Amino acid sequence: MIVTTLGTNGWFDTENGQTMCTLIRARDFSIILDAGYGIRKVKPLIDFSKPSFLLLSHLHLDHTIGLHTLDYIQFQLPLKIVVPAGQKQAFTELVRPPYTNLWTKMVPEGSELLDTDELANADFPFEITTLPIQHPVPTHGYRLGIEGRTITYLSDTGYCENAVTLAGGADLVIAECGALPGTVKGKTAPHMEPEICAQLALEAGAKQMVLTHFGAGAYTTMEARKNAVAPARSIFPNLITGVDNLEIVL
Ligand SMILES: [Zn+2]
Ligand SMILES: [Zn+2]
Repeated sequence: MIVTTLGTNGWFDTENGQTMCTLIRARDFSIILDAGYGIRKVKPLIDFSKPSFLLLSHLHLDHTIGLHTLDYIQFQLPLKIVVPAGQKQAFTELVRPPYTNLWTKMVPEGSELLDTDELANADFPFEITTLPIQHPVPTHGYRLGIEGRTITYLSDTGYCENAVTLAGGADLVIAECGALPGTVKGKTAPHMEPEICAQLALEAGAKQMVLTHFGAGAYTTMEARKNAVAPARSIFPNLITGVDNLEIVL
C-alpha cells in the first residue's frame, strides 16, 4: 500500500506546495483524503479499473477547491464521497453552477454522497471510523483499517481527545501542522504545531506520523518546515515532514 501526500499546503497554493490532498493506493481500491488542488495529481496514479473513495474532512476551500477538477480526473467507476455529518447540503451548494459544474455531472453515474452518520449502513471494502475533531466548522477525523494496517487522518484540528482516540496505535497518522512552533495558544486552537503533533502521536502510541497542511502564510519556505519539525523529533522520533508527492510505503 502506498500513501502519497499530493498537496501539503494549508490555506493556499505556493511554490512550496498545493492545497490538501493525500492518496492511498491499496491493492483493490484507492482512497483520496481531501480535495485541495493537490487532487489533480491523482490522475496518473490511480488505477481507474478499481473503485475510488473521496473522504472530505471538512468543507474549507483548501480542502475542497480541487473538486472542480473532478471532470478532468475522469473516474471510470462510481465514486463514493464522504462529508462530515450535516454537510451534504453545503457540499451540493458548493459544487454546482455558477461556481463549477454540478458534482453529479463530473463523476460517473451511480456515484454517491454520504455523510459520516450514514457510514454504518454503507458498504466499504475497508474499515472506517470517524469522530468530530476540533475546528471552527464541522470537521471529522478518519481512522481507516486497510489490509491489516491502520491509517488515521487528522486535518484540520487542534489537539483534542477524539484526535488521540482516532490515532490510537495507528501504523501511520497523517496530521495537520498548520501553525508555527510556539504560536498555538489555548485549548480550543483550530490547528496544531509540530511539538503538539508529536505529543499527540506519542500519547496515541502511533508508529509514525507524517505532517501535512503546513500553513502557507506561516511556512514560507521548505527550510521553515524542516527547521520547525526537527526539534519535535525529541518527543516522537518517527515524525516525517510532509512535502508534495512524498510516498510512504506501508
Ligand atoms: Zn485547512
Ligand atoms: Zn480548515
